[in-house]
Amino acid sequence: MAFDKPLYLRGFQPTRSGGRLGAVLGSVFVLAIVGVNWAVFFRGAGVAAPTLEQRLAKPVEVPAEPEPLPQQPEASPEARMVEGALVRGETASQALARLGVASGSAHGALTELGRLVDMKTLKAGQKLVLSVMPDGKVRSLTFPLTETAYVEVNGADGGFVAERKEIATDKQTVSFACVIRGSLFESLQRCGEDQGLAIVVTDLLAGQVDFFSDSRRGDVLRASIEKESLSGRFLRYGKVKGLVYEGRVANGSVFPLESAAGEQTYYDASGEAVERPFLRAPLRYSRLSSDYSLPRLHPILHKFTAHRAQDYAAPKGTPVYAVGDGKVVFAGAKGANGNLVVLEHQGGWQTYYAHLSHFAKGAKAGERVSKKTLIGFVGSTGRSTGPHLHFAVAKDGAFVHPRKLLSMPGQRVPAAEAAAFRDVVDRVTTELKALPVRGLDGTRS
Ligand SMILES: [Zn+2]
Repeated sequence: MAFDKPLYLRGFQPTRSGGRLGAVLGSVFVLAIVGVNWAVFFRGAGVAAPTLEQRLAKPVEVPAEPEPLPQQPEASPEARMVEGALVRGETASQALARLGVASGSAHGALTELGRLVDMKTLKAGQKLVLSVMPDGKVRSLTFPLTETAYVEVNGADGGFVAERKEIATDKQTVSFACVIRGSLFESLQRCGEDQGLAIVVTDLLAGQVDFFSDSRRGDVLRASIEKESLSGRFLRYGKVKGLVYEGRVANGSVFPLESAAGEQTYYDASGEAVERPFLRAPLRYSRLSSDYSLPRLHPILHKFTAHRAQDYAAPKGTPVYAVGDGKVVFAGAKGANGNLVVLEHQGGWQTYYAHLSHFAKGAKAGERVSKKTLIGFVGSTGRSTGPHLHFAVAKDGAFVHPRKLLSMPGQRVPAAEAAAFRDVVDRVTTELKALPVRGLDGTRS
């Protein structure tokens, strides 16, 4: 199935593409076959075949009524275009051999490709587009990376050069105010936005609004954000120009400040960066089942003990992340802790992750980890009544309330840019507050 369609009909659709897109692609399939023949014919006649870039940029555009074509003999001295994909268990050079490339030529092209692509991580289904000379030598190899990026390897006689290329997307800023009814996901969808925006919004507002407990029906999210598309098809959200959440329980806002190099940093209205040095929790979407405390009744030992940690109830196998940059100082089984990871961070901080079912690859003593590196999975090893993460924080060797670390604030807007930031906040807030609210009509929630 992966081999029977031309590249521009199978490789570059979003995985969540719905039935409608599938139907459109299906209905143009016949036309596309004719289109490929048309392209082959005219290439034979000396007209260049469309480049990959052109084909990706116009994925379904084919001539409306092509002329009936004479059959071309296969004896053309020109290079032929070959499209294929890696099959399971196959190396890239095996794939190239299968696609008719001479082995010496394949080696040169793949060596050069390996300069820009980690050849060890290739997966079955990876697309390859080749231009192959009649003697089996590669003239060019195109290796799609994402929907909008690819590596092109060009050359002849062994002298290959690889280059990463990006396909320009269309960028458009949209602004809207959306009323919350049901979850943020549902609300944004009802307001005509892609659900992917919910992830962007929850991440950026995480320090101000907890969407699992603080959002209420009738709250309003106001947003101005860049949307990227390719040939009219939505790809992803880009830079955020501003977010304001007006809630009954919680309020929040996010504004960007752009550096000279064009990098955006996001701040709340008070000028504190939304990105903090430590994660707010070592796992996502979990519930604090037991907070840090001094003496409490222990559920197994039935005696009063202190609990100088936080317990996060979560299903077995839930990913556990390093809360900050640091170094693994312990990873192994340790008595009542069960499988335990201990990280050391700058400033005399240590974090403990206990009762893990098992460890992630990078969780080995001596290894460096970054904030949000996967270190293990929730389990119930050691002295534990059920799957949960026991998370403890020590400062200079003494356990402290994890909140001390997890709520460490982000950086402030640099003093030199405070006035410029104030202007951004005022201007964007005024714009967002003026937007009419979407999603107010209708009675379903
Ligand atoms: Zn605990």
